[in-house]
Amino acid sequence: MELSIRIGGLIESDPEACAVKTHLEVRTPVTHEVLNQAPPLAEYNLFSTDRVLSEALDREGAGWARPRLEEFGRLTGTEEAIRWGFQANENTPVLYTHDRFGHRIDEVEFHPAWHQVMRLAIEHGLASLPWTESKPGGHVARAALMLLASQNEAGHTCPVSMTYAVVPALRKQPDLAREWEPRLHSSHYDPRARPASEKSGALMGMAMTEKQGGSDVRANTTLAESDGAGAYLITGHKWFCSAPMCDAFLVLAQALGGLTCFLLPRWTPDGERNGFHIQRLKSKLGNRSNASSEVEFQQAWARRVGDEGRGVATIIDMVQHTRLDCVIGSASLMRQALVQAIHHARHRRVFGRMLADQPLMQNVLADLALESEAATALMMRLARAFDARETDASERGFARLATAIAKYWVSKRCPAQVNEALECLGGNGFVEESILPRLYREAPLNSIWEGSGNVICLDILRAFNKEPEALQSVLREIRLARGSDRRFDEFLTGLEQDVSASATELEARRLAERMALALEASLLIRHSIPEVADAFCASRLANEGGRAFGTLPHSTNFAAILNRAF
Ligand SMILES: Cc1cc2nc3c(=O)[nH]c(=O)nc-3n(C[C@H](O)[C@H](O)[C@H](O)COP(=O)(O)OP(=O)(O)OC[C@H]3O[C@@H](n4cnc5c(N)ncnc54)[C@H](O)[C@@H]3O)c2cc1C
Repeated sequence: MELSIRIGGLIESDPEACAVKTHLEVRTPVTHEVLNQAPPLAEYNLFSTDRVLSEALDREGAGWARPRLEEFGRLTGTEEAIRWGFQANENTPVLYTHDRFGHRIDEVEFHPAWHQVMRLAIEHGLASLPWTESKPGGHVARAALMLLASQNEAGHTCPVSMTYAVVPALRKQPDLAREWEPRLHSSHYDPRARPASEKSGALMGMAMTEKQGGSDVRANTTLAESDGAGAYLITGHKWFCSAPMCDAFLVLAQALGGLTCFLLPRWTPDGERNGFHIQRLKSKLGNRSNASSEVEFQQAWARRVGDEGRGVATIIDMVQHTRLDCVIGSASLMRQALVQAIHHARHRRVFGRMLADQPLMQNVLADLALESEAATALMMRLARAFDARETDASERGFARLATAIAKYWVSKRCPAQVNEALECLGGNGFVEESILPRLYREAPLNSIWEGSGNVICLDILRAFNKEPEALQSVLREIRLARGSDRRFDEFLTGLEQDVSASATELEARRLAERMALALEASLLIRHSIPEVADAFCASRLANEGGRAFGTLPHSTNFAAILNRAF
């Protein structure tokens, strides 16, 4: 029998004609023809398609790492690596507290795809490069690599980040650093649940947060008592302990001398499982590939790192580096959301024209591109300060304060950016296969861990008060762009008047935001194309934009911004 179907409002697929037919008689059986859908964004090089990152790599002193980035950018853009990202998040880690005979094992099993992304990261030095590379620029090169890794799969960057970040804290206890650094710097990924001394590579995590307080770590109740032989036995709990399969953790616990930092391995020196019991894994909004757990320590064997009573001062060096990674992680999600949105708009036709050619969509995409470029430029400049901070006091001050400023602001902008990029794909953006839902669920996290928004802003006030040289270093960097743009100069003058050691808690968020915007604008004025700097100053400093994305003023050169973006 012949079918006769009447379809109303169907959009003609012929790209030449592009006319809307209001009624269509179909006299043959319906076929499944897929029209006007964007091809998947795969088999592309995440590094070589990112001009902003590429320029920043040279500018901030790691041009030598270009071949490694080209290679890593190609690998992370392959269909296979993209599939690993999806599989690792769809097949979440499983906790086994006991073996089949009833012995406690406290092991976490991951999907093979997780191991693939971990292997890729460890083999390319994402956890070790700045500590093993003799050339200056190791932190910058690694930051660029992390920006690529996290675009493909964000969850695995948590243990990678902690393994990188633990080193400066560990060095406060040289004997422990000598023992553990070679394992942490290995380019072999060894996921086996075995004593670290038997493995070809090791990972480290950190456990500070307890049920009664995360930000307020001084409220920690976990106790440490001497074992009489130079080590300690730890008893207590941690409410969040990510990546519990790591080989060791920096843990805060109360010793006789006060809150102290300890290295707590999964196995004791005599080859027994340590008293580290995983109670359960958290069921999380996002970050699903990564296991985050609740743990209890029962007389767990540990070694002290730094002096008793200096726990926060010791672990803060680790936290400072993971905060840098929060900036990188947010910039990375923003970049991936942006490229997905641009890619879609360049392939989707609506109302007779490509989406990318529609003025209002150009405004949205260009606005997102500005935000992404500003985040990338800031993150790379910050990484340079980490490279120079051992030898240059001004860079040390810059790293101290700009890390907090950037962590606060870039993490805050990330969810809004991903949300808007998701909408650029229409309904497709709401569907898991597009990757946007995964980015969206991940987006708020960098603002929560390693110091939530308010806590970071209070830390900024603390730096204003106690480390005035850090404030001067940041202002010095911002002022480098003075005299190039009237709007920037006015914004800076206002900021200089308001920023002071007497700033109150109520003003802290507003000041953090203004400092971040001034820093970003200064970097864009000096290092980006004039069209980007102009639109950024107009919309972010001179109130010529709105509160949502897509509100750049008429004068914006949209084509120039979008050509640069991807
Ligand atoms: C997925 C995930 C993984 C994590 N992994 C780890 C891990 O591996 N190790 C670890 O130690 N922790 C981990 N955390 C915990 C995380 O670091 C804490 O959740 C975070 O530090 C906040 O602590 P809290 O949850 O106790 O909140 P609280 O400290 O109770 O804070 C709640 C809110 O109050 C605000 N606030 C706090 N103090 C003030 C103040 N004085 N004035 C105004 N506002 C204030 C905070 O900014 C926050 O918004 C993880 C968290 C998540 C979500």
